[in-house]
Amino acid sequence: MKIKIARTAGFCFGVKRAMDKVLTTSNRLRAAIFTDGPLIHNPQIVRALSQRRISVLDDGCEPGGAAVVIRAHGISPARKAFLESKCAQVIDGTCPLVSKIHKIVHKQIEKGRNIIIIGEAGHPEVIGILGFAEGRGAVINDEAGISEIPFPPEAPLSVVAQSTQELEHFDSLVSSLKEKYGGVEVFNTICDATRKRQEEAAELARETDLMIIVGGRNSGNTRRLAEVAQAAGTKTVLVETEEELTAEIFAGKETVGITAGASTPNWMIRNVAQKVEEISYNSRALPLRVLKKTVNFLIDSDIYIGICAFAMAYVASTLIAKTIHPFEAWLAALYIFSMHTLNRYIDRDASRYNSSSRNKIYHKYSKYIMAGGVLASLSVVALSLHFGVWLFLFYVLCSIAGILYSINFVPVGFRPYVRYASLKDIPGSRDLFISTAWAVVLTFSPAVSGKWIFEWRLLFTFSIIFIMAFCRTITLDIKDIQGDSIVGKETIPTLIGGKYSVLLMKFLLLCASVVTIVAVLVNEYEYYSLSLIANFAYMLVIINKFGKETNYYGNYIEGLIDFNFILAALFLLISKWTLILF
Ligand code: SF4
Repeated sequence: MKIKIARTAGFCFGVKRAMDKVLTTSNRLRAAIFTDGPLIHNPQIVRALSQRRISVLDDGCEPGGAAVVIRAHGISPARKAFLESKCAQVIDGTCPLVSKIHKIVHKQIEKGRNIIIIGEAGHPEVIGILGFAEGRGAVINDEAGISEIPFPPEAPLSVVAQSTQELEHFDSLVSSLKEKYGGVEVFNTICDATRKRQEEAAELARETDLMIIVGGRNSGNTRRLAEVAQAAGTKTVLVETEEELTAEIFAGKETVGITAGASTPNWMIRNVAQKVEEISYNSRALPLRVLKKTVNFLIDSDIYIGICAFAMAYVASTLIAKTIHPFEAWLAALYIFSMHTLNRYIDRDASRYNSSSRNKIYHKYSKYIMAGGVLASLSVVALSLHFGVWLFLFYVLCSIAGILYSINFVPVGFRPYVRYASLKDIPGSRDLFISTAWAVVLTFSPAVSGKWIFEWRLLFTFSIIFIMAFCRTITLDIKDIQGDSIVGKETIPTLIGGKYSVLLMKFLLLCASVVTIVAVLVNEYEYYSLSLIANFAYMLVIINKFGKETNYYGNYIEGLIDFNFILAALFLLISKWTLILF
């Protein structure tokens, strides 16, 4: 089965902006906060937010707590004044496009005109807009509504639309209004994001034989997408989560289209796509199924990253011109595997959102994974003794650093008053910790197992490996930014945003290229080391392709990103032997 995901699927700009405000406020205040009504029409997200003490303020409920955030739909001036009188902080998450409608209405009222809103009468966005009309507004949603407008035919009318209205519907009602009223001024306030999403859904439906719409059943724009796809003559299924998908739905289908409402996070879309792919593979030949499952398992269980670390141990030892025993390289790989496994175990809440397949493995085999991580860590320390006391002490220190990183230093009773109870709570520290662990172990373990002498090439190698590991972690974190934000995991991309993270990585890759060239020029590295520049270029291509909050799904992205480490070893080996032979 071929899977096509709509480019416009998922959070629209306004919803994403409101969500960011809520999560940043919750992180900043570290206290219970409210959203004025459900932030988005998606029960899974509302549940996830409530676990972070972000609750929904229902009508008639009085806000307490530290802050209340206004959602993208916006509210009336009266409601805002009420919230300000009751709550310490009111944070405005109104979508700028909705704020623009508020401004238009306000200006038209000042001019003495009456307001007609084309939209759903009880919708929160419409209630908010109506509040700006100061009692001189009316809402219509069909031809019948026109006869109920409480203004005489000579009254000046200014017409605006609820942002999610369909253009044809709006135009038709405007024409009817103009037939009855003389002074009609029209403001087309329909949001482009909604129109584009619906157009793409219709286009995708024509190209596929099954459409899956992901989103809350109580979300108007999600239901509308399903209607648009259905109207194109394609079988359409609306699901809230991947668990609702069964093999029967896909019987006889060859191409599946996936799109999602404006309130659906990208991890939900990815999980649905991953499930469709899984169902599709279940109908393939056995060898292909086994191969796919094996690759997935190797990546999800972090065995693959261990293999990549082994390749990088060869790279590091070649760069610093120390011969490394394959067994020593395995020790380094085992240490990195154990750090990744234990970190993922600690962060397993985030995997619930970021990767459904990894989540399954981490829940099904949770005890074994934890035991495997600890065992790997202990084996590294014990086996390193074989290579002498220095390597043994080196791994003891590295393991202590790994344990200290995750330990809570603050007693339970004091934790509510302390922002950072452990090193891992420091924002962005995880990315730095993992990259530093890679650089320290791969650079210094071959050095300490021989006779320790400080050489500049150690420093060069440390920086190159740090940058490669850092770019790998950040690219994966950008993909997972929405899931990480929901669970409050503060990675570098959740702190500085995807755009600045990409700029930072590009700058670092440039630095890594300069470091490599300088190291060759000052005779610290051999000429063949220049092959690393091909890896920096590979990483640049990966960042340009995947360094955004995309709906790309499946383990293949992680596989491709990490493959750079294996490529680095291959390129170095090939260029070294090419130079030797010629
Ligand atoms: S649909 Fe458009 S107007 Fe509504 S929140 Fe999204 S971007 Fe803003």
